[in-house]
Amino acid sequence: METPDFVALAQPGVRALRAYDPGLDLVALRRAAGAGGLVELGSNENSHGPSPAAREAMLGALVSLHRYPDPLGGDLKRALAAHHGVDVAQIALGNGSHELLMMLAQVFAGTGQEVVASRYGFAVYALAAQAAGATLRLAEPLPAGHAMARGHDLHALLAAVGPATRLVYLANPNNPTGTWFPTLELEAFLTQLPGEVIVVVDEAYLEYATDPALASATGLLGAYPNLVVTRTFSKGYALAALRVGYLLANPALVAVLERVRESFNVNGPGLAACEAALADAAYLDQVRRRNAAEREALHDALRARALAVAASQTNFLLVDFGRDAVSVEAGLVARGVVPRPMAGYGLPTCLRITVGTRDENRRFLQALDEVLA
Ligand SMILES: *Cc1c(COP(=O)(O)O)cnc(C)c1O
Repeated sequence: METPDFVALAQPGVRALRAYDPGLDLVALRRAAGAGGLVELGSNENSHGPSPAAREAMLGALVSLHRYPDPLGGDLKRALAAHHGVDVAQIALGNGSHELLMMLAQVFAGTGQEVVASRYGFAVYALAAQAAGATLRLAEPLPAGHAMARGHDLHALLAAVGPATRLVYLANPNNPTGTWFPTLELEAFLTQLPGEVIVVVDEAYLEYATDPALASATGLLGAYPNLVVTRTFSKGYALAALRVGYLLANPALVAVLERVRESFNVNGPGLAACEAALADAAYLDQVRRRNAAEREALHDALRARALAVAASQTNFLLVDFGRDAVSVEAGLVARGVVPRPMAGYGLPTCLRITVGTRDENRRFLQALDEVLA
C-alpha cells in the first residue's frame, strides 16, 4: 500500500508548520565531551539546581509511581493560590507552561483570526498560533538605539491589534532579548485594548528579576479579566525536567481552558517537587542573588571585549557579534561550550548565552577568547 501524503491530510495550520527546533543534539555532544564535561549554556536552564527540599519531595513521590497523579493538582494549586494571593479557581496547571501557551491558542484562536506577538519573541507563540490555524501578526521591536533594543514596543503591539485579533503573547522579561518593561507600562497597554482581546504575559523568567520596576502582572488580574499570566517551575526553580507550569487568570477563562486540559497532564513527582520548591523561598532568593551577580559580571566581561550585549533581567544574555555568528558558535561547541544560535529567531549575528555558575561562565569566556583571537 502506498504511504498517503500525511502533510496534505494535516489541518491547514499544521501543514505550514515546522517542528520546534531544540538546538544542537546535546546527547551526542555530552557523549563526545568526555571527562571535562560540556558547558551547557543553550537552553536557559538553571545551573544552580533545585531546592534540596524539592528533590526530596520528588523522591518521596516515587512510592506512588503506579498511581495516577491528582488530576486537579489540588495541593500545588492551593499553595500557589496562597503564594500569589489569588483564588484556586484562577489557576490552571500545565505540562510546562509550553502546554498552556499552546492550549490558549487552541481554545481562543482559529482560522480567520489573528494572534499578535513581537518579532523577537519566544518561538512557541508562533507555533501555537499556526497550529491553531490562526494568522500570526508580528509587531516590530524597539529600535537599535533604544535602551531595550529589540525588546517589546508596546505601542507597535497595540497598533498590530485589529478586529480579528483574539490573543496577544508577550514575555516580560523577554526571551531571546532578556529585555523588560515596567509593570506600569503594561497597565497603560491593557487599558487601551478591547476587553475581548486576551493578553498573555509570559513571566517564565520573573524569578530572576531584580529591578523593582518589574513586578509580576498578577497584581493586575483583578482589574483586567482578559489578562493571563503564565509562570513556570523550569527556570528560577530549576525543575525543567519535571515539566510543570501554571497560569493565573480570571476563573471563567480558566474554566474554559479546563475543558481541553488532559486530565493527568502534570505528573505526581512534579506536583510534589513544585510544592516543596515554592515553600523554600530562601533557596529561590539565593538563586536570584547568585544569578544577578553572575549576570552582571558576565555582562561586564562581554562589554570589556567590545561586544554588544543587551541589558537583561533573566538568566541569559543576548550577544551581538556584528557578523554572522555561525563560526563563533562552531568554535565554542568545538571547545565544549554550547550557546544558542539565533538565526532561527531572525538574529543571525547573535548568540544567546545562559548565565551559568561562576566556573561555567569562566570556561565560556576562555573559549570565547580563543575563538575571537
Ligand atoms: C523557558 C520558557 C518557558 C517555559 O517553558 P516550560 O514549558 O514551562 O518549561 C516559557 N516561556 C518562555 C519565554 C521561556 O523561555
